[in-house]
Amino acid sequence: MICLEVLASGSRGNAALVQLGDADGLILIDAGLSPRRTKQAIESRGYTINDVKHVLLTHDDSDHLHRGWIRAIRMWNFTLHVHATHLDDVRRSGVESRWIEVMTPQFQLSTTTSVEPHIVPHDLSGTAAFVIEHKGVRLGWATDLGTVGPSLIEHFSDLDALAIESNYDRQMQLDSNRPSFLIDRIMGGRGHLSNTQAIEAVDQIAIQSMLQHVVLLHLSRDCNCPLVVRERWNNIESAWARQVHIASQDEPLTPIRINSRHQTACLP
Ligand SMILES: [Zn+2]
Repeated sequence: MICLEVLASGSRGNAALVQLGDADGLILIDAGLSPRRTKQAIESRGYTINDVKHVLLTHDDSDHLHRGWIRAIRMWNFTLHVHATHLDDVRRSGVESRWIEVMTPQFQLSTTTSVEPHIVPHDLSGTAAFVIEHKGVRLGWATDLGTVGPSLIEHFSDLDALAIESNYDRQMQLDSNRPSFLIDRIMGGRGHLSNTQAIEAVDQIAIQSMLQHVVLLHLSRDCNCPLVVRERWNNIESAWARQVHIASQDEPLTPIRINSRHQTACLP
């Protein structure tokens, strides 16, 4: 079983806790909240900071790697897993090499947990999407991406849960008073996913998976609204649309338990 808790999601900071429920401890996906806020969140859930063994970094934008970590990381005892495409920028930001491990195409966090990263289009360097697999339970994670291509769909096969960004409502984006260069960046294929793109992606991924949960990440404050998103999903008849959770910038999402299929089948 994996327990996923999105602590915060959005342009003001991203972080999610993955609890593996045994000696594998906790994984943090992105470190976009301040060290102090992250420590408080972990301790308020009955853990200590030393229970975090690994941080998986999607990319090094400051809403995913809070700059407070550059000093704080040496007081914690975890490994910062960075994709090679972000390595130079992370080093340049001041994080010392001894805390960093470069992701390989499939790497083990422990004997029971592996990660398969996959680079997706976002700005210049892209973003690392990944599948975390723990004792046969597979969680797909993709945020900050401009396009969902066939290779990501193929990578996200046989998932039990999927977290994917649903950043903006297309019409709200076009009607916003944002400068045109920003709108072009977001909608130009290397920015963010619209609500429609997210739905289309989940539709394709669900065909080849047994999704117990879909978590929507990184909603724009200016160009999206949870009520709009919820309404879109309520109008979808497929079973996977009933499993949706919408992550927030301000409130942690209620923890989500992702069970192994074997375990689910055996429950009375
Ligand atoms: Zn972001």
